[in-house]
Amino acid sequence: MDLMEKITALAKRRGFIFQSSEIYGGYQGFWDYGPVGVELKKNIKNEWWKTMVYGREDVVGVDASIIMNPIVWEKSGHLKAFTDPLVECKICHKRFREDQKDIHEHNNWTESKTFNLMTEVLLGTIEPKEKSYLRGEITQGVFVNFKNVVDSTRVKIPFGIAQIGKAFRNEVTPGNFTFRSKEFEQMELEYFVKPNEKESKKTFEDFKEIRINWYKNLGMNPKKLHFKDHEPEKRAHYAKYATDIEYEAPFGWSEMEGIHHRGDYDLSNHNLKYKDNLNNEEYTPWVIETSGGVDRATLFFLIDAFTEGVDGRVVLKLNPKIAPYKVAVFPLLANKPELVERARSVYSLLSTVYSCAWDDRGNIGKRYFAQDEIGTPWCVTVDFDSLKDDSVTVRDRDTGKQERITVVKLQSYFEDKFQ
Ligand code: ATP
Repeated sequence: MDLMEKITALAKRRGFIFQSSEIYGGYQGFWDYGPVGVELKKNIKNEWWKTMVYGREDVVGVDASIIMNPIVWEKSGHLKAFTDPLVECKICHKRFREDQKDIHEHNNWTESKTFNLMTEVLLGTIEPKEKSYLRGEITQGVFVNFKNVVDSTRVKIPFGIAQIGKAFRNEVTPGNFTFRSKEFEQMELEYFVKPNEKESKKTFEDFKEIRINWYKNLGMNPKKLHFKDHEPEKRAHYAKYATDIEYEAPFGWSEMEGIHHRGDYDLSNHNLKYKDNLNNEEYTPWVIETSGGVDRATLFFLIDAFTEGVDGRVVLKLNPKIAPYKVAVFPLLANKPELVERARSVYSLLSTVYSCAWDDRGNIGKRYFAQDEIGTPWCVTVDFDSLKDDSVTVRDRDTGKQERITVVKLQSYFEDKFQ
């Protein structure tokens, strides 16, 4: 089995990711997150929000609707830009207008098709129904709310608007597990700055560092991360600078997040300006965007954390901050009510602060095995000694070391771990 097969098998076996509509044979390009997958994905989004919104006084969030007035897509250029005859490289899945094929290094193309990546939906009850679209990127939801945010909050340039949400693309070749899906989630910051070459370039460079460090600080192997600048001829025509953060996946270096200098392209498209009341100036701000894929980050964190011993034993070394469960609590024996009762009280104590797993099946070895596979950093076992000395055994996922800790100290013990 190659690594991607192992990851896909683990994802299904332990409840990270399932095929959508699996009982009906699945549905190409769509995926469901299971009980542990939803926790992992939620933790990734929360960590992103903590860094990009709560950690900054110059950023606020929005949650715009998925379906917007179709005029938005006309103005943004999506309806036009996505209906050109396109071909897609079968090797790296980059799409090109047919007349731009020769700028690409590979030469293995899908048939040329006039396709629109926007997913159409029909609304209304009377025929003909109104054609609308599921958003192809979450970005436009931020731009169309630019004025609302400026008018309703105290933000002043430079400031950012953050958003996390679903986007939909009618991808020609979905694949590599969740890497390229038709429905996916994005986490984005649109940061508005004065139209100034030097300052905006600096902001662009700063965000490159902020974003790559975010992945590193959450434990991603720095050797598997790099920037890949877009060559001028491959860049969107409006982008002044653009770079991708790529991860070295088993299927090659792959885009995980884009950092783009979008100039005044979007706000101009929507005819939006900013009024600086202090200096009585009016101008169209420039935008620096960080646009990450939640599903790609989730997949790459999974791949990065996957370790396998010589005996085939899998340990998912996820950073505790994003691990689905922080602590698992076990009674040594499930058929001893006094152990179960004591373990339940430990579970109640810890679960007010951390997402905890409870397991009383099989023997301790099997439970460790199961928790290692879902990346639970610590397992707490309540045994007969616990009833006498009020201590429990805490076992560390990565070192396998076990420590006796008194229950009263348990909360501060874990607090220290998260420092
Ligand atoms: P690609 O070249 O891989 O199609 P893109 O350059 O079109 O990606 P952007 O439009 O910059 O992607 O979107 C920002 C982010 O959204 C990407 O870096 C990626 O993480 C995520 N993303 C885009 N398309 C998909 C998809 N089909 N499935 C999953 N995630 C996606």
